[in-house]
Formats: sequence, structure tokens, C-alpha cells
Amino acid sequence: MQDYEMRIGLEVHCELKTASKLFCSCENAFGGKPNTRCCPVCTGYPGALPSLNAKAVKLTVAAGLALGCEISDYCKWDRKNYFYPDLPKGWQTTQYDLPLVKGGIMTYESGGVKKQLRISRIQLEEDAGKLVHDGEKTFVDFNRCGVPLIEIVTEPDLRSPEDAAAALEEIRTRLKFAGVSDVKMQEGSLRCDVNLSVSLRGGPMGVRTETKNLNSIKAVQRCCRYEAERQKRELLAGGKITLETRKWDDVRGIGYAMRGKEESRDYKYIAEVDVPPVTISETFVRETERSLPPSKASRKAKYTAEYALPEYDADVLTSDCVISDLFDDAVKCGADPKKASNFIMGSVLRLSKTEGSDDYDVKIGGDRIAQCLKLCDDGEISMPVLKEKVLPELWGTDLSPSDVINQKGLRRLPYEETAAIAQKVIEENPAAVSEYLSGNSKVFSFLVGKVMKAGAGKCDPTHVNETLNKKIKEKEKER
Ligand code: ADP
Ligand code: MG
Ligand code: ZN
Repeated sequence: MQDYEMRIGLEVHCELKTASKLFCSCENAFGGKPNTRCCPVCTGYPGALPSLNAKAVKLTVAAGLALGCEISDYCKWDRKNYFYPDLPKGWQTTQYDLPLVKGGIMTYESGGVKKQLRISRIQLEEDAGKLVHDGEKTFVDFNRCGVPLIEIVTEPDLRSPEDAAAALEEIRTRLKFAGVSDVKMQEGSLRCDVNLSVSLRGGPMGVRTETKNLNSIKAVQRCCRYEAERQKRELLAGGKITLETRKWDDVRGIGYAMRGKEESRDYKYIAEVDVPPVTISETFVRETERSLPPSKASRKAKYTAEYALPEYDADVLTSDCVISDLFDDAVKCGADPKKASNFIMGSVLRLSKTEGSDDYDVKIGGDRIAQCLKLCDDGEISMPVLKEKVLPELWGTDLSPSDVINQKGLRRLPYEETAAIAQKVIEENPAAVSEYLSGNSKVFSFLVGKVMKAGAGKCDPTHVNETLNKKIKEKEKER
């Protein structure tokens, strides 16, 4: 069998988190009633004049710095001409030969090994609208037209589906921590095209295909695996790979050809006459660098050094910027770092994650997490009640923890009440008690469960253990 190797290069599109669009003052937000966030500029009325959003330039520079790239001191704008119903202007204003960010090298980890990925360029451009298909009809929604978008192009340095997934995850994390974008792949604020070729090991690079618009990291990985296999099979059968644009069907787990790939000459790039070139000063770059929020690496270092958290906790808490922000807020509001970490990792993460999505949706603030933990510390509620009853009530509301425990009667039972319940449980289960006393230690958790149930979960587990132990010892003496 001949030995093939694969090469993968990514094109990552990321919508910037600005208040308004790239060349007009329309709101930049996801969704909304179709065609309510547009104006003559973003829908390309003749004579309408664009004016550049400085915040978008700053965020692109921030993205470049976060990904280890060099920033250009001069960039210009170009028109990429094509006809498609979601592009009312008839061209996309983008950057062709002089993008805002030049190349660089990003390190990432794949399969426990540190690797390097060369970034070729990052350009700032405008997003197109959306086509909405409904049965036989197709509608256009221009709300997304003119939303600032960066395109990050990498060199074909990735050598496996796992590399591609790990590198994309690293890019996504860095952009999110830099505050550049909310990088939600489900909502399309981060989209990825996969360029992949296979060739005989050590031989010249093969012809690539480009699969468009993958919307999850897992989909990227599956698509790479599928496409590499397909190309290998094709080549082994004596066939040829053609430069083509493909689509990925994540439900069926297959890719298919869409069209022959367009080349840059097909777009008839011309200089954008309505937007002047931009000069970027060294001062502006340094200033942007200083204003970057702390990176994942520096937050991780802080958690282990300053808060003495285990490496594992620091890894989990910094797996996503929103989780890290939540933890920081909780600590700022007075929570003990280790307790906040346990609580977030044990309960909050589960509630924040939806099936099949790479994004966390946190519906509680750090202030209320700190309040919850304090109520636990003060003995007002037990941890199980906090996790199972209080937290779900707080989720997505603005209720306060103490209101919830008062309204729902969740206050922890005093020790004496738990002791009374334990006494009753022991009396009602003589068989279990004597089984325990004759050496079957497993029966203890059965008794604990009985007490917890009788106390409707409001007993403190340490109280339950303590009082059950004590009372069983007394029983033993009686025998
Ligand atoms: P285009 O603008 O037509 O998409 P580019 O030259 O900008 O073409 O390349 C796009 C992507 O394709 C880049 O990410 C690059 O790394 C990748 N690429 C180029 N050649 C190959 C190849 N032989 N195998 C895999 N990826 C490739
Ligand atoms: Mg391309
Ligand atoms: Zn507009």
C-alpha cells in the first residue's frame, strides 16, 4: 500500500464584536427581524458613501497580536466583484494585496505535542447577507450585510484532522480571550473553510479541495477525515483530484462537490475608491497591545500561582473565556477561589453547555455565585440543595439566592432536626441497622439516603453522617 500524507490549511472567518457595522452606523447584532438593520450604505444604493469603523480596525489589530502576527503599517481596500443575491452591492469590500495583518506563527498543542502553524494573513472585510430558504421560496435578509469580518488564512501546515481541530480551537480561544469576537460557531460568528490535499509521503503537494462553511470544530475534524479518505481512494483508483469547492453535510457525515473552484482572477479585483487606505502607527499597535484583556495563558498562571488552584482546575476554568470571567467575578465578589472553582466545574458548567455546541451559555453572574457559596459557608443551605435546587432556580433569572431559599423553604435543617430524623430512620429500619453492624458497610449509604429523603434534601450531609454514626454506635452498645 502506498503511503499518503495530508496537508490542511484553514480559512477562518470571524465576525468582530463592534457596536455598529464596518462602513455605516447600522447595529451589528445577531438575528433580528429581517431587513431592519440596514441602510443605503450596507445595501449598496448608488451614491451612498461608506465611512470606516475605527473600532473594527482596532479589533483586527488585536486579533493579529493575539495570533502572533505582524501588523502592517499601511493597508488598502479592494472590491471583490461577484453576483449573488445576498450581496446587494455587487462587490464585497475587502483587502486583497495589502491586508491589515501580515503573517506570523501561532503555537498550539495537538495530541500532547506543541506544534506551530504559520498564519499567512488576516484581512478585514464586510460580511454578506443571508438567504433564507422556505420550501420552494428563497428570501434575502440584509441584516448581516456590512458586518465587520476578519478572514484568517493559514499555511497548509496542519497534518491531520486532529491538528486542524486543535489549531481551530486555539484560534477560537485566543480570539475570544482577546475580546475580538464572541466566536459562536452555531450562530455563524466563526466559520471555517477547510483546504485539504493528499500526496505521496515526501512527494510534491497534491491538488487541494476547499470545503466551505463548517460550523463546529467537530465538523471540521470529521470533514478532514472524510475528505482525506476520499482523495486517497480516488488517487489509488488511478483518478485525479480537481480543484473544487465542496460542501459538508454534518448530519449524514459526507461531503459533496458544489462547483469548480473560482480563481482570484474571476473576481476582477479592483481598488475600492470610496474607502481611503489606512496608515497604522507603531503607537496605535502598542496601545492596542496594552489594552488587550489577559490571555488564557496569563489567567492560567494567575490561578495556579496566586490562588493555588490545581493545574486541572486552571485548565478547566480557562477552557473558555466566559467561564474564566465568571470565576474572576465570583472571586472579586468575595468567593473562596477553590470553593468557587469546585462549584463552577461541578455544577455551572453542566448547565452552561448545550448538546452539540462548542459554546457556553452562562446564565448567572459571579456576584450570585459568591452569595450562594457564602450561604453554604454560613450553614444556611447544604451543598446538595444549592446544586440541585437553588442554582436551577437562579439560572436565567435575576432572583437572589436568599429569596429563593426563603420562598422555596430550602433553608438547611438545624442539627437537632437532622438528628431526630436519623433516630426515626434507625428505628424504622432495624434489619438494615443490624446488617450494617454485622459488617456490611454498604448499608450505611442506604441509611444516609433514607435520612436525606426524609429531610427533603435539606439535611447537611456532614450532619447526617455524624449523627447516623453516633446513633448506630449507641445501638451497638445496647446489643
Ligand atoms: P484561495 O484564495 O483561492 O482560497 P489561497 O492561496 O489563499 O487560495 O489558499 C487558501 C488556503 O488553501 C490556504 O489556507 C492554504 O494554506 C491552503 N492551501 C494551499 N495549497 C494547499 C494544498 N496543496 N493543500 C492543502 N491546502 C492548501
Ligand atoms: Mg479561499
Ligand atoms: Zn447600514
